[in-house]
Amino acid sequence: MKSFIFLLLILISFIFIGDSVFATVNNTVNKSKTLHVPILMYHHIVKRKTHDPYSVSPEVFDRQMNWLKQNNYQVITYADFYQAMLKKTILPAKSVVITFDDGDIDQYTSAWPILKKYHYSALFYITTNFIGHTHWMNWKMLKDLADNNMEIGGHTMSHPNLAKLAAIDQQRELIVSKKILEKNLKIKINFFAYPGGAYGTSTVALLQKAGYISAATTQHNVFHRPTENLYLVSRIHIDDDLASFIQFVKGTRVN
Ligand SMILES: [Zn+2]
Repeated sequence: MKSFIFLLLILISFIFIGDSVFATVNNTVNKSKTLHVPILMYHHIVKRKTHDPYSVSPEVFDRQMNWLKQNNYQVITYADFYQAMLKKTILPAKSVVITFDDGDIDQYTSAWPILKKYHYSALFYITTNFIGHTHWMNWKMLKDLADNNMEIGGHTMSHPNLAKLAAIDQQRELIVSKKILEKNLKIKINFFAYPGGAYGTSTVALLQKAGYISAATTQHNVFHRPTENLYLVSRIHIDDDLASFIQFVKGTRVN
């Protein structure tokens, strides 16, 4: 019996050593190989109405954030992710990015208090024509986010389908919205998300020309290849549910 316990202890210690070695190797290979960084995509943080895939209730959002904490995930900024993709930095083994689209007021009233509770940062992609209207964040709220280490990104002026817009109109949507955010928040707007995930053949070139350095799609993938186009970065649509969240973050479920 004693020797059995002894063997068991040796086995357990190997498992732990193996795990830490794996983590170290994982960190060093990050530089050249695929990055496993889920970029979470949220819209509304409100009690879900039936069949609304864009709402996550505050209680579920809290449980999702808590799961990240309990499972030792590190919430990094999109800028951190971007630098790692350029191979300038190495990320922690379990990194995750949180993003919100559109600029709904519940992102400020419901999501942000939960983010603060866990000391997590997030990137908010803002549609400038919505700012200050009922149900949308105003400039004071956006300034509050920007002043408290949240990232702000572009999401056009009017949330059009960019795939259906003439190049000249796309250009206006990209450039003017960027200028409006930069002027009012006094920060540089580097990142962009395509409204509805849609883009045309000229959109990436227009984004580059407008001065954005990276853009996110709605294409679902948690693994980022070193060759991935930084203007077509994949994200994960998050549902009002913890079980699918865990599978998506771990990368065990694709869609
Ligand atoms: Zn949107």
